Amino acid sequence: MIGVVEAFSPSYALARQRFLSGCMAAGLRAQAHVHPLKGREGEALAMDVALDGAPDAKHLLILSSACHGVEGHCGSGVQVFALHDHEWRDKARAAGVAVLYVHALNPHGFSHGRRVTQENVDLNRNFFDFDKPLPVNAAYAQLAELLLPATWPPTAENQAAIDAWIAAHGIKAYQAAVTAGQYQFPDGMFFGGQAPTWSNSTFRKVLREHGKAAQAVAWIDLHTGLGPNGHGERILACRDDKAAYARANAWWGGEHAVTSTYDGSSTSALLNGLMWNSIYEECPKAEFTAIALEYGTLPMLEVTGALRADHWMHKHAGQASPELAASIRQQMREAFYADTDAWKGQIISQARQAMFQAVDGLAKT
Ligand SMILES: [Zn+2]
Repeated sequence: MIGVVEAFSPSYALARQRFLSGCMAAGLRAQAHVHPLKGREGEALAMDVALDGAPDAKHLLILSSACHGVEGHCGSGVQVFALHDHEWRDKARAAGVAVLYVHALNPHGFSHGRRVTQENVDLNRNFFDFDKPLPVNAAYAQLAELLLPATWPPTAENQAAIDAWIAAHGIKAYQAAVTAGQYQFPDGMFFGGQAPTWSNSTFRKVLREHGKAAQAVAWIDLHTGLGPNGHGERILACRDDKAAYARANAWWGGEHAVTSTYDGSSTSALLNGLMWNSIYEECPKAEFTAIALEYGTLPMLEVTGALRADHWMHKHAGQASPELAASIRQQMREAFYADTDAWKGQIISQARQAMFQAVDGLAKT
């Protein structure tokens, strides 16, 4: 076993080290998909993958972290804890479920403390068929200049204009406008990209290698930054498919245990270009059941504020003083990682419960 608090890391470099030693302690071979760029401390970056179970297992559970880079402090902690958790590993093994750990889907964002990839892309809006016409987010276009104004911090006029937009359209519409994904502003927020990113192509490779034999695939993708502090919302991460929704509820706690963006029960807005599209494309024969486990940190407007600051800083490279840059990085960290023992305890206990439930669910299919 490892202590709950020790499973979490303050940097990508340390998180990676802990994940790799966790694999070694568990007797698992980790496979590194090396990223073309270096990290913030000059360290190597990689999407590290380890399979705990038979390569031809019919039932596969994917446990992934850092789709949104900076959220990886949380997800990596869950993965590292799991690798040292004998009761958990025995449970999956006894049920014949192979567990695929994907550490740092977006290692560049994790290392640099950003939510996006090196391409400024929100990875969870990037799984789109780019041969098709891209969705147009008209509300984002209205807000684009206000969200990332010429100077930072925003002026009183800027704040008043944003407040007026929210007053006119409602807070839900604001959240949807900003977070739904947009494909027209490459230096903007929640940009879905104009082509598959490195993380997208690499993750598809991982799925082709490990997901081929599976008849049933479950996925728990770990996120932070939405909802009440420390609460893990289980958000359906499948197609708008009634059977998958019913299965997810049955596995993860019964009716209404899982929320959905399709029926408005989730705190998340309806989104475009989500990662789960890749499962239907790369593992087309598998029955697929998945949630994003989304842990709350700070109130929505504070999280959005941190993201606006981060994007402003990267759009206006070199304009931020070292003090402002440091404070923006700190703001980002706090928006996506509540670095307290109590929060970490809540993260691990809810993730562990969802993992045990996923194994029970898979074993029944
Ligand atoms: Zn996320």
